[in-house]
Amino acid sequence: MTTAARRTRAAHRVVVIGGGNAGLSVAGRLRRAGVRDVTVIEPRTTHVFAPLQSHIAGGRARVADAVRPQQKVTPPGVTWVQDAATGIDPDRRIVTVTSGAQMPYDDLVICPGIRMRWDAVPGLAEAMSTEAGVSNYDLDLARKASPALRDVTGGTVVFVQSPSPASCAAAAQKPMYLACDWWRARGVLPGIRVVFVTPEPALFHVAEVDAELRRKVAEYGIEVRRATELRAVDADARTITLGREGGEEALAYDLLHAEPPQAPAEWLASSGLTDARGYVEIDPETLRHRRVPSVWSLGDVAETQTPRSGGAIRTQSKVLVQNLLAALDGEAPAARYDGYSVCPFTVSRHTVVFAEFDRLGRPEPTLPWWKGSMRENRLTWIMDRYVLPWVYWHMILKGRA
Ligand SMILES: Cc1cc2nc3c(=O)[nH]c(=O)nc-3n(C[C@H](O)[C@H](O)[C@H](O)COP(=O)(O)OP(=O)(O)OC[C@H]3O[C@@H](n4cnc5c(N)ncnc54)[C@H](O)[C@@H]3O)c2cc1C
Repeated sequence: MTTAARRTRAAHRVVVIGGGNAGLSVAGRLRRAGVRDVTVIEPRTTHVFAPLQSHIAGGRARVADAVRPQQKVTPPGVTWVQDAATGIDPDRRIVTVTSGAQMPYDDLVICPGIRMRWDAVPGLAEAMSTEAGVSNYDLDLARKASPALRDVTGGTVVFVQSPSPASCAAAAQKPMYLACDWWRARGVLPGIRVVFVTPEPALFHVAEVDAELRRKVAEYGIEVRRATELRAVDADARTITLGREGGEEALAYDLLHAEPPQAPAEWLASSGLTDARGYVEIDPETLRHRRVPSVWSLGDVAETQTPRSGGAIRTQSKVLVQNLLAALDGEAPAARYDGYSVCPFTVSRHTVVFAEFDRLGRPEPTLPWWKGSMRENRLTWIMDRYVLPWVYWHMILKGRA
C-alpha cells in the first residue's frame, strides 16, 4: 500500500448499520485494511449465532453456545454505537438513530438483517406464545422447542417452512430431522404423525441435495405438503389452515414448529435505497448500490439474487471490502460475488448434508475434490456443529475469514 493510500484509509469514515454476522465481518476487515474510522450501529447487547438455533431446537446445542456479549465480539478498534438506525439521507450522507443523533459518513454499509414477521400469518404469534408453538427462528422459541420436541411420544407434529426470501429458508427442516432421529432412537417415531409444509415445489432447489433429503423424509416417514403455505393458525383449537393451488386444508396439531415469513425493516424504504420489495438495491456482483456509489450492502437485507445465508456473507464481505477499498483508491470495483451460498441440513443427530451452490443453483463445493459433502456425512456434522461456530467467533467476526 502506498503512503497516500494509507493516509486516505486513515481519514475515511465508514458507518455500518447492523452489528450482526455481516456488519462485524465487514467492520473487522476494514479495520484490518487500515480504515481507522469504522462505526457499527447495533442496538442489541447480545450477539446471536443463528445457525446454532437449529441445533438448540433439536437438542444438540445449548443457548450459551450461541450467544456472546456484543462488546466482546465487536472487532478491536471498531466503535460500537448502541442504538438503532431510523433513517438514511444519502444526499447529505447522514444516518439518523433512535436517540435523534445524526451520524455522518463517507461510505455506508447497510446490513440490519431481515425482520421476522410473526404478524404476517393470522394467529401465528398467538400460537407461538402457547406451549404448543415453537421455532428455531427465535432464540427463546428454540430454547422452548428443545424439551417440547424431546418429550413428544405421539400425536401430530407440524413443521412449516416459510416463503423465500428468508434467512436460510430451509433451516426450518433441520430440527425436524433431528427430532425424527431422536424419536426413532426412543422407539416412538411410528406413533407420531410428522407433517412438513413447504411453499417450494421441492425439499431443496439443488437436485442432488433434494434427492438426499427425499431419502431421509422417506426413512422417517414424514408426510410432505409441497407448494403449500401456512394461511392461518387457530391457537386455541390447535388447528392450522394450509393453502395451495386448488384449495385449503385444515390440519390439527399437537405441536407446531414454524418459520415466520420475513421481510426487510420498513424504515429502510424511506431512504430511497431499496427495491419494490424493500431490499437494498445493489449490484449483486460488486455489492455497491446501483444508483448511490457511497452505499454498499450485504447479508440478509441485500438484494444479492441468491438464497441468504451466513456462508454467503463470508464471500460477500471479502468482495465488498475489496471493492470499497478500490473505490477509495480511485479504482473501479473489480471483485465479483458469484452468488455462492450454503445450507447445512442436520439430517440426523450425527450427520449433515452440506449444500453449497451458486446463484443458479449449481453445486459449488468449497472442496471440489470431495464428492461426499452433499450426501449425509459425519464429517460435515463435525464441521457444522463444532468447526464453523469456532471459525465464526474467532475468525469471521474478526474479519479474518
Ligand atoms: C434459524 C436460522 C438458521 C440458520 N442457519 C444457517 C446455517 O446453518 N448456515 C448459514 O450459513 N446461515 C444460516 N442462517 C442464516 C444466517 O444466520 C444469516 O444469513 C446471517 O445471520 C445474516 O447476517 P446479517 O448480518 O445480514 O443479519 P443478522 O445476523 O441478523 O444481523 C443484523 C443485525 O442488525 C441489527 N439491526 C437490526 N435493525 C437495526 C437498525 N435499525 N439499526 C442498527 N442495527 C440494526 C440486529 O440487531 C442484528 O444484530 C440461519 C438463520 C436462521 C434464522
